[in-house]
Amino acid sequence: MSKPFQQLECWFVTGSQHLYGEETLRQVADHAQQIAAFLSSNEQIPVTIVYKPVVKTPEEIAALCTEANAAKNCIGLLTWMHTFSPAKMWIQGLKILQKPLLHLHTQFNREIPWNEIDMDFMNLNQSAHGDREFGFIMSRMRLERKVVTGFWQDEPVLMQLDSWIRAAAGWHDWQGAKFVRFGDNMRYVAVTEGDKVEAEMKFGYSVNTHGVGDLVKVVQAVDTGEIDLLCKQYAEEYELSAAVRNDASLREAARIEIGMRRFLQAGNYKGFTTNFEDLHGLHQLPGLASQRLMNDGYGFGAEGDWKTAALVRLMKTMATGLKGGNSFMEDYTYHFAKAPAQSLVLGAHMLEICPSIANAKPRCEVHPLGIGGKADPARLVFNAGSGEALNATIIDMGGRLRLLVNTVKAVAPEHDLPKLPVARVLWEPYPEISTACTAWILAGGAHHTCFSQNITVEHLEDLSLIAGLEMVVIDQDTKLRSFRNELRWNDCAYR
Ligand code: MN
Repeated sequence: MSKPFQQLECWFVTGSQHLYGEETLRQVADHAQQIAAFLSSNEQIPVTIVYKPVVKTPEEIAALCTEANAAKNCIGLLTWMHTFSPAKMWIQGLKILQKPLLHLHTQFNREIPWNEIDMDFMNLNQSAHGDREFGFIMSRMRLERKVVTGFWQDEPVLMQLDSWIRAAAGWHDWQGAKFVRFGDNMRYVAVTEGDKVEAEMKFGYSVNTHGVGDLVKVVQAVDTGEIDLLCKQYAEEYELSAAVRNDASLREAARIEIGMRRFLQAGNYKGFTTNFEDLHGLHQLPGLASQRLMNDGYGFGAEGDWKTAALVRLMKTMATGLKGGNSFMEDYTYHFAKAPAQSLVLGAHMLEICPSIANAKPRCEVHPLGIGGKADPARLVFNAGSGEALNATIIDMGGRLRLLVNTVKAVAPEHDLPKLPVARVLWEPYPEISTACTAWILAGGAHHTCFSQNITVEHLEDLSLIAGLEMVVIDQDTKLRSFRNELRWNDCAYR
């Protein structure tokens, strides 16, 4: 069975102690192996689960944590105390552990065997109190973690594990990741700025700038044969009119795509930003190129927005193998209906929306850009699919970064929008437009987001626990007065 993250592992770690004697410890190991094997072979679990020998002493625990830190493909630990594992034994290990940890509060036996239960059974099946001892030390040490409670074969447990493992895989992808900015920030824009040093210390990825001239050099070196081939590919993948097919702008877009891809591959970059104010030597704003590179998994942010580029990459990675897509997005314009419940946000950008969210074959078109004073850029035009979705953004509050999420319901457009030459999404934000947008603005939420059809609040919450990142959610339950208080209290909590 092929897993979405075939190369990655989570280690299944069971704690105990020597007090119980050989026979009980042998049973503990046997049961732990069964659980690890079940999880590893379950198709809901997106990584390989590796059984680790039961740890029984402070030395064994510290050695295991050291080993996990150094293991390249280990993205996290799933921990479980089948029996009682006195938790002072865990302090040294937990102090040095640098990999994400999930506490699986489960029990080998689903039910109490009413007629057979005796003290031997009680001695072995003690996670009800063994896991409490372990939970205490993690809380005492102020360590964030996800706790999942329930029988290990049950669907809700598997789904919670899947969510956290996806977050851990996204986190793993960020460690050492490189993002490149072509040019700097759009002049005077505030929210796309931020502390790149702090972000690298906190999130593990680095962001560095190249003057657009460095990219132009690579773009200019692209040869005609390559451009021919890529234009042929465009014609296969998209609706393309004869006029567009013969438009020199399309060939220029292909040249830019090839050059950008080459630049990103050579530098081992996982994402990039562009800036329409800084295109010296590029004939058009990279629209089609940004859309297609995003579709291939690169993170993207416009106007120098590196935080969103990294977030788009993260969410695409977390969503590996799931139906639906993730795209760079901007809240563009509103539809205030007389009935507030029917009010809508139209999300779009100048060009750069990812076709992974398209509901049909995109049209490839060439139109003038009303801003920036460059040649007419090629772009993909489409509607996004309808259904439950969310918008997420990361902003720099000064002293800390904040992840802000709003759940939305994407709706199919009732009208054709024949003159709108960009890809677009319509959505109703939860709980409704007035509360949602007021809350977003109070929280300092950016106009740039990652729009996702397959990442949930739980995925992002799991990520926030791993990253030690403030997370604020606007959803069906949001009430403005308590939301305002949450922001105030968080200012104290994260001081
Ligand atoms: Mn923008």
